[in-house]
Amino acid sequence: MTSSIAIAGAGFAGAVLARELAGSGRFSVTVFEERDHVAGNCHTSRDPETGVMVHHYGPHIFNTDREDVWGYVNGFSEFAPYVNRVKAHTARGVFSLPVNLLTINQFFGERFSPREAAEFVATLGDASIDEAQSFEEQALKFLGRDLYENFFYGYTKKQWGVEPSRLPASILKRLPVRFNYDDNYYNTRYQGIPVDGYTAIVEKILDVPGIEVRLRERFESGMNSQFDHVFFSGPMDGYFDYQFGRLQYRSLVFERFDEVGDFQGNAVINYCEEQVPWTRIAEHKHFTPWETHERTVCFREYSRLTSEGDVPYYPLRLTDDKDLLARYIELAEAEDRVSFIGRLGTYRYLDMHVVIGESLDLAAGCLSTPMEEWPTFSMSPF
Ligand code: UDP
Repeated sequence: MTSSIAIAGAGFAGAVLARELAGSGRFSVTVFEERDHVAGNCHTSRDPETGVMVHHYGPHIFNTDREDVWGYVNGFSEFAPYVNRVKAHTARGVFSLPVNLLTINQFFGERFSPREAAEFVATLGDASIDEAQSFEEQALKFLGRDLYENFFYGYTKKQWGVEPSRLPASILKRLPVRFNYDDNYYNTRYQGIPVDGYTAIVEKILDVPGIEVRLRERFESGMNSQFDHVFFSGPMDGYFDYQFGRLQYRSLVFERFDEVGDFQGNAVINYCEEQVPWTRIAEHKHFTPWETHERTVCFREYSRLTSEGDVPYYPLRLTDDKDLLARYIELAEAEDRVSFIGRLGTYRYLDMHVVIGESLDLAAGCLSTPMEEWPTFSMSPF
């Protein structure tokens, strides 16, 4: 006899877990998805007017260090090699990002070698900061005020809606600083774009016996009793009807515009100036450089605090959020036969590859332990 599992949410977290559990033959899995498509915020589809593959919830470039995760996604789609090369639009001109030797030489009008550049940037850093406690301190310590103000201050304030001095240093640590000419946005070993988009991958992941996908159907907490176990990938506070108040997220708003030809010559240009209201412009046809399209589809991206009805993207995780989070964690731990998974379920800032890796690990753990011992969280929210 199979045990019945409900999974709320058909993003990567839910889909990968559903596949692994159903694949064992020991579980029948029902996936509830309130939207009319799978793949969560990774959803892509071909724009009917232009033929361009559009990333509806913002650009997603797959990259990972984990060989098993890379192997897993390649089992569902061909990935075209792709290197994310971002440009920064600043008050002093357009530069290469992440900050690298070209950025430093052009920004300061120099011809530094890698060693000279490293020595020069070290003189700009604020040596009085011992252990950086905030985003701002991290930037000032390693880059100095000029680079911080031109590349990071305005962008970060727009993206997060608060002074960078209130944000954790960990956010900046996502971005490398390089003293060579490597302008790859990521340090990861594997990088690519699926040729048919992400939604096609998630559809394939879910397309096996033992999985039923119910689109446009929201999982309600009253449904728990119909299942032996529930995996919830929606917002943790939403599961508890926001009874202590809402965990804060930043939401994104996309303003589409179409042009003929090439609008900006690159997939992503960040606008680092505080006065420019958008954070970046993404021109989606450049994510598939192997395709040819006469027209082009671009999105200006704006960030704002999530209010009711908005799609939550980035967990804010300021001090108040962490206090609230602790109260929700307590409620979650008291729940029986429910696990919280993924970016929203654990209130963490996660990339796709991390979510997939965690779901693979969680599934392996679940398949080797009795259901009563399944964990409350795919990974600790703290
Ligand atoms: N950031 C910035 N200027 C930029 C790009 C990034 O200040 O041009 C900061 C910003 O605070 C952002 C963080 O660095 O949240 C991490 O950047 P990343 O590109 O990883 O953010 P993502 O768009 O993936 O969330």
